[in-house]
Amino acid sequence: MSVRVYLDWNASAPLRPEAHAAACAALALSGNPSSVHGEGRAARRLIEQAREDVAALVGAEARNVIFTSGGTEANALALSPMLERGADKQPFARLLISAIEHPSVRAGGRFAPGAVTEVPVRSEGVVDLDVLERSLASGSRALVSLMAANNETGVVQPIAAAAEIVHRFGGLLHVDAVQAAGRMPLDINALGADLLTLSAHKIGGAKGAGALIKRAEALHFGDPLIKGGGQERGARAGTENVAAIAAFGAAAAAARNRLGDEIAHMAALRERLEAGLRALTPEAVIFGADVERLPNTTLVTLPGAKAETLVIGFDLEDIAVSSGAACSSGKVAPSHVLAAMGIPRELARGAIRASTGAATTTADIDQFLEVWKKLVQRLSIKEKRGLAA
Ligand code: PLP
Repeated sequence: MSVRVYLDWNASAPLRPEAHAAACAALALSGNPSSVHGEGRAARRLIEQAREDVAALVGAEARNVIFTSGGTEANALALSPMLERGADKQPFARLLISAIEHPSVRAGGRFAPGAVTEVPVRSEGVVDLDVLERSLASGSRALVSLMAANNETGVVQPIAAAAEIVHRFGGLLHVDAVQAAGRMPLDINALGADLLTLSAHKIGGAKGAGALIKRAEALHFGDPLIKGGGQERGARAGTENVAAIAAFGAAAAAARNRLGDEIAHMAALRERLEAGLRALTPEAVIFGADVERLPNTTLVTLPGAKAETLVIGFDLEDIAVSSGAACSSGKVAPSHVLAAMGIPRELARGAIRASTGAATTTADIDQFLEVWKKLVQRLSIKEKRGLAA
């Protein structure tokens, strides 16, 4: 049996060995982290160590980390009109988001649909800061949510510049850094993000843990999503998922310690992958190729191709990649990210994403290119026979 090649790290990264060990050790503990006895304190220690490690990954203070069930919940917690800055409890009347945000941000949190405005991106997939500035200037102060890097294209967004604009107009900036973490340096203070979202399973932790991180302690959640016990200083009630949080901390520490090496490794693989794609298929389009992108992400399309055919073709050859199109209820919808970039539907429908990580090898990339060649040949044979579907 051949060995599978996993090139879908943006969907979920394999568990790092350190995270696996931390989760197993945590599962062996019986205490509730809110209990004052020794068993409870042992569980609490794991959570507080993880808080330190997650904070360190983004240059934040541990006390400003709120653990959640993942990136989706962290985004939902952040997007509320009831964010309070110290004594300033005046609700936000509007939310501005970029047109390429993850669905968990596009859902708008607790803002009414009419209070959410989309800011367009330019053709390379970078948010249009001129439009952002005009939107901020033309109404009441706003909460703004922008991603640090896009999950489909990997295109990095100008967060520090956006933060300067948002703050000039008295707004707050939330940054979804789920895909950027572990793939580029992130510092909450240098970025100027008031709130920042992370997800454990994108950096080699377990699925089902994430964090919303505040830059300043004075920011409060007037209406937490989950109310009840006083866990997470009242911002997120419920007994903590100790094993997943411990694994998150271990993954964050490993990602931080190896960041430079892992970035260099992924960048070299991307170079090899994209040089190979260009050599084999000069007509292939790599999205965001001319702007700064995550070192691990390539979104590529071929005129006439269908993403689902390619993804299945790769899977049958033991390679996991994903399509650039969101698939729900059996229907393949065109990617809102590519639509926002003005990519014609015909071209967007062939987009597939290959995303790598620390464990990806050059042999994996070469195998991907071999299969790409095979699938493209099949496609052109069909075209010649007039069977292009
Ligand atoms: N934000 C971005 C940019 C993502 O790519 C994802 C997951 O794909 C999420 C948020 C949601 O994270 P989670 O899977 O932890 O809910």
